[in-house]
Amino acid sequence: MSLKDQEFLYNIFRREIKDRKIPLSLGKTCPVKCTFCYEMDHSYRKTFETPLTTQEHWEFIFNEIQSIPTRESESWILGGNEYMEWTDLALHPKAMDWIEEFLDKTDKKITVFSVGYFDPARINRLAEKYPGRINFELSVITLGSYREQLMPKGPSVKQVMAVLDGPSVTSANFYSFGPGTMSQDAKNISNINKECLLWMGCLTPLKYIDTDTTKLMRQGKRFLPDEARKIYDMNLPNVQMIHTESDITAFLNRNKIIKTFDACELEKKDWIVMAGNVHRILTLFRPGRARFLYVPNDTLGGDSNCTTLLTFDDVAKRITNQRVIHLPQVIMEKSSNDERDISGRSFDEFKEQFPRVRFKVLYKVNSALSNKKLYEKGYLKNYVEDYLDNPLSKKFESVAHPN
Ligand code: SF4
Repeated sequence: MSLKDQEFLYNIFRREIKDRKIPLSLGKTCPVKCTFCYEMDHSYRKTFETPLTTQEHWEFIFNEIQSIPTRESESWILGGNEYMEWTDLALHPKAMDWIEEFLDKTDKKITVFSVGYFDPARINRLAEKYPGRINFELSVITLGSYREQLMPKGPSVKQVMAVLDGPSVTSANFYSFGPGTMSQDAKNISNINKECLLWMGCLTPLKYIDTDTTKLMRQGKRFLPDEARKIYDMNLPNVQMIHTESDITAFLNRNKIIKTFDACELEKKDWIVMAGNVHRILTLFRPGRARFLYVPNDTLGGDSNCTTLLTFDDVAKRITNQRVIHLPQVIMEKSSNDERDISGRSFDEFKEQFPRVRFKVLYKVNSALSNKKLYEKGYLKNYVEDYLDNPLSKKFESVAHPN
């Protein structure tokens, strides 16, 4: 590698490190080949090809990380790079050694995302040795008959259960794909691990997901109420959260959404941008209080329906003759340094596209608010008691989106 190439690579590392990522690379696309992988099309963000991380690269990365002071609230992420393609980094042959070195020589915390290819004994031993410093989010996805179809090269159920059998996994995520899927998995996982958080819901089909997988995801959504009720009745000791449906999240947080909307003090004629989830809430509870500019999540496509994930391109497609448009800040918070959407497009560039429109930012509608709320009302219990058992939710579901 020439010095110039190396400097380019190290600059990518530096950018990741600035965002508190541990930028390991497998040097190729992810070999696990999950059919639901949201990384299949990452054209929405700019990524750079990086070679398999070598010992020399690691030494550079680790030195940089060590030079950054530890903050109690901070956790370094392994498995969610921003400028490099996502892959399952547990598959890097040195991943385990480097995680151990990280834990051994720093006092920092680490968050690991993986489908579970770690050596079960070793990762659980590390969790025992460094209590409270590993936050391991295990993507179980499903343990039942659909596993083969969805994760043809994923780890075996036996491997996943062995990883779960110990203190390392802090949360296990798995989803509804039909009858006896999510509920059965919840039971089996809780049997072996009563401490880990159970993170459940559905996977949302996006535009590049194949037809069979999309069908399965939609089937899962149809059975989510039944599956959730079964789990509710099981009274499992684990903390149980349900997060992945933006409509449900919006409904459960309707009071906060309405309160925030009221606090923005908009006039009846003001245009305000929102995706389907918030559109339903405001149409139902604040009709006519402003003009709701419904914007479909075209960039992600599929069944996505979430204001947080809107892009400027999505908004651009819906602008007609508006003179002033209010935009929620949440759509331009990809990075903390400048105003960009999830695709990386900047607010300034977007504004230049519409010189005759004045854009006003609703700073009260920000991701600090949406993230906090997501967690507060994200329990399976909330979903069953305040959504499924609430007749208002049926009315909410029937609110149609404009064309
Ligand atoms: S392991 Fe993760 S990154 Fe790899 S294909 Fe599966 S979902 Fe995608």
